[in-house]
Amino acid sequence: EISNERFLWTEKDVKRTLPVRKPSSHKGSHGKALIIAGSKTMTGAPVLTTKACHRLGAGLVTLAIPDVAHEVVASQIIEATFHLCSSKNGEINDTHLSDKQLKDRYDAIAVGPGIGRNNTGSFLKTLLTDFQKPIIIDADGLYYLKRYISTLRTRGGATILTPHSGEFAFLINESIKTVEENRFSLSKQFAMQHGVYLLLKGPNTIVTTPTGNQFINPTGNSALAKGGSGDVLTGMVLALVMQQQDLQPAISNAAFLHGKAADILTSHGFSPLSVLASDLVEIMPQVLDRF
Ligand code: AMP
Ligand code: MG
Repeated sequence: EISNERFLWTEKDVKRTLPVRKPSSHKGSHGKALIIAGSKTMTGAPVLTTKACHRLGAGLVTLAIPDVAHEVVASQIIEATFHLCSSKNGEINDTHLSDKQLKDRYDAIAVGPGIGRNNTGSFLKTLLTDFQKPIIIDADGLYYLKRYISTLRTRGGATILTPHSGEFAFLINESIKTVEENRFSLSKQFAMQHGVYLLLKGPNTIVTTPTGNQFINPTGNSALAKGGSGDVLTGMVLALVMQQQDLQPAISNAAFLHGKAADILTSHGFSPLSVLASDLVEIMPQVLDRF
């Protein structure tokens, strides 16, 4: 049921809160993003996250990837710049980002898509303590986060987590079944306990704020149940978080538009079986044109 702390995030809310570009704006006005993603065997995730971030209006995007993945990934992206990380086991070993670089250069960071689970993930701990602005953690970033979860409460900036049911179940040591049966209460408990924004994915994605308000997303369909669609969402959240003061509308708008892209595709001749994550990125100009 919808209680007084649960709200449906509607098309009207999106129209009311989406950022508008000022005629006088320049690329620096729309945020400098850092995406930490990809590995030797997961080269598509960083491409999807980066493209989605640009499609949602980010001014500048830098993609940090392990050196072993650079050539393949860079051949798919022409708009971003790259930061090469040293690699171990085909995955990021260290971001080599100093405290100063982080503070000066970026307005928000997304970490996780396709980074793998074979190293220590200690770079994530560095980010969480050194970077004082919004960090979005997704996918294998959430796997590493479990080791450093106690750092969340005292972070200097906002933290946004975007787990699917399995990732959330792992984080809180519960079964997927328990998560799916208690989506509202468990996400509210977690968000308030750790002081984070939690976007719990699935049909009717729930965005919970650190104070426990919950916003339900009405868009999306089973066309999204395919590898890569979450990576697209992460890039969208990152872009909007940089362009909107208020984080909950930014996060909810990303979820809404992501689902809307799938809805538009499936109502315009795309079978839900055939929709690709990259189709969501391609259709985004038409989705945004409606808002
Ligand atoms: P991930 O599992 O990280 O790739 O993320 C999957 C994305 O697709 C999330 O945004 C989910 O909310 C969405 N999604 C997956 N399956 C469905 C479904 N059956 N209905 C609506 N959205 C879905
Ligand atoms: Mg995912």
